[in-house]
Amino acid sequence: MNEGLVGGCLCGAIRYRIEGQPMFVSQCCCKDCQKATGTGHTTIIGIHKDQLKMEGEPATFTNTGDTGGKVTRHFCGTCGGRLYTSGDAPGDHIMVQAGSLDDPGQVSPENCIYVKDRLSWDRLDESLPHFPGLPPRPGILD
Ligand SMILES: [Zn+2]
Ligand SMILES: [Zn+2]
Repeated sequence: MNEGLVGGCLCGAIRYRIEGQPMFVSQCCCKDCQKATGTGHTTIIGIHKDQLKMEGEPATFTNTGDTGGKVTRHFCGTCGGRLYTSGDAPGDHIMVQAGSLDDPGQVSPENCIYVKDRLSWDRLDESLPHFPGLPPRPGILD
């Protein structure tokens, strides 16, 4: 019954579909996510890049991530809606913004990462595993 995860930007110019199951869902508290989303943390869905089928051409912004690699954030050039992040992850993995799903309730975070940057007023689920940076084994390394 489940056709997979579908989503898009706020204005609807860009749509996407995720084929297959996500590898992980995390709450990321890193400083760059705070700046890029204007929130305390962002919820990301880790998938292989081939799982993402896009309609429309996102704008991009690239900077250097925490591990020294290039990180590119993809967003709608019209409405600014954040879509996904590529780079700075092992292999060909990308992180889709869970809030851009048509039904974000379809996924549920399994851990919290970069909690070293967490803000005191930003509440997270304390029952989930917390990691200061990336998880020791993100589950995407092999
Ligand atoms: Zn848009
Ligand atoms: Zn982050």
